[in-house]
Amino acid sequence: MIRNLWSPWRMKYLLEPPPQGCIFCERAGRGDDDRDFVLFRGRHHYIILNIYPYGAGHLMLVSNRHVPLLAGLGAEERAEAAELLLKIEEAVRSAYGPDGANLGVNLGRCAGAGVEGHLHLHYVPRLRGDTEDTSSRSATDPPEDLAHTFERLRAAFPAGRGR
Ligand SMILES: [Zn+2]
Repeated sequence: MIRNLWSPWRMKYLLEPPPQGCIFCERAGRGDDDRDFVLFRGRHHYIILNIYPYGAGHLMLVSNRHVPLLAGLGAEERAEAAELLLKIEEAVRSAYGPDGANLGVNLGRCAGAGVEGHLHLHYVPRLRGDTEDTSSRSATDPPEDLAHTFERLRAAFPAGRGR
């Protein structure tokens, strides 16, 4: 999906053994949204920062249920996913004003899924030229820390359930 974005902080993710259990199920039920960087909770999904981002504003839309494939979502869940994608687009555009974005779902480890078996969709804001040089140019330049991204984006999302 993305080539040549310079993201050295992802090395931790690449080198560490995967955590036990399913981190997305854990975050669906934990309710510690500030600590987990959960930006928004809908009825069937939540929106969370990727803690090993390709660039600032890299979000994930995660199903509350542990389903591996799109086919596992019911009609109401699919409809909400589409609505929440619009919310993501609006929030990221208002917070960062990117030139574009990558939107993707990796189904299965062979397709690059970091967390296998639990449906999640990536949204990565992009700037013109961000893969054309060796700098770390992303939606922010220089890159910002996650806490800053969280505050910036949370202000751009409407209040969800439990907030
Ligand atoms: Zn899960």
